[in-house]
Amino acid sequence: EAKENSKNCYAMYTSKMHDKTLKALSMEKDLRNALLKDEFIVYYQPIIDFITGEIVGLEALIRWMHPEMGLISPVEFIPFAEKTGLVVEIGEEVIVKVYKQLRKWYELGIYNMKVSINLSAIQIKQHNFINRIIDLTEEMGINGENIIFEITENIGIYDLKHTINVLKMLKSMNIKIALDDFGTGYSSLSYLQKLPIDIIKIDREFIKNITKDSNEQFIAKLIISIAHSMSCVVTAEGIETLEQYNKLKSYGCDFAQGYLLSKPLPVEEIESMLILKKIFDY
Ligand code: C2E
Ligand code: MG
Ligand code: MG
Ligand code: MG
Repeated sequence: EAKENSKNCYAMYTSKMHDKTLKALSMEKDLRNALLKDEFIVYYQPIIDFITGEIVGLEALIRWMHPEMGLISPVEFIPFAEKTGLVVEIGEEVIVKVYKQLRKWYELGIYNMKVSINLSAIQIKQHNFINRIIDLTEEMGINGENIIFEITENIGIYDLKHTINVLKMLKSMNIKIALDDFGTGYSSLSYLQKLPIDIIKIDREFIKNITKDSNEQFIAKLIISIAHSMSCVVTAEGIETLEQYNKLKSYGCDFAQGYLLSKPLPVEEIESMLILKKIFDY
């Protein structure tokens, strides 16, 4: 009978599922290996003030420099890292890399750069998350004013009370909180009001057709007015054209991010851009 069973199993394993399982297993192994071999790198995308036109901050965006496959987008591996819990280690790696970069800039006399770091709900859910952040920030001598953590609307799915406590503790360290991809989730305004957020980022979905689609114009204006009435500032993501830029500026949107201004870049290229724009004044 056992033989019969294993025969059936074998038949099943040869199906597509087998491929998927194998792929997932090798992906998990590869991600662990990538951590060990230090294959993750951080790119930075500038965030611009609509009024002054100056770069006011950078978003840290992870990439995987795979020895054979080249640069891999986070879209390809972050969802998987979230499923396996590996996002906890990968996320901490990003925080450490950003902190090291900030230290380098401090040593050059640059103290005012603000870097946004994406956090996954699974990271915040860890009971020791806040202590790790407090320790790392202290050990590395990082000023909380230089840090913004980006969360998404699903941040409270595990434990809203715990999440709010963690966010409040981060804020007591002068760290700011941004709500990323806003408008794509299903959160109510009363839920939103419970989260101590400083910045709302309008998702690219609502920016795409903003110069044509009056429905999206309405949504963007509404998000900006809700955000302002909650004493939050607003960043528009994914601005690709001057038309989109001007439209959002006319709506009173505060900050701009998108390929029109700059793609995410490796740190060396970001540094030369900051020097050119006299943001870094050596
Ligand atoms: P996100 O946090 O919403 O980041 C913005 C994404 O939009 C980035 O994609 C950025 O490259 C892209 N983008 C910016 N401007 C434009 C534009 O004008 N047009 C278009 N088409 N795209 C634009 P990226 O770097 O591929 O990152 C994708 C997502 O991966 C991020 O979305 C974030 O959710 C996640 N991610 C990235 N780094 C990390 C990380 O360190 N930790 C975690 N947990 N998630 C991360
Ligand atoms: Mg983000
Ligand atoms: Mg986003
Ligand atoms: Mg997004």
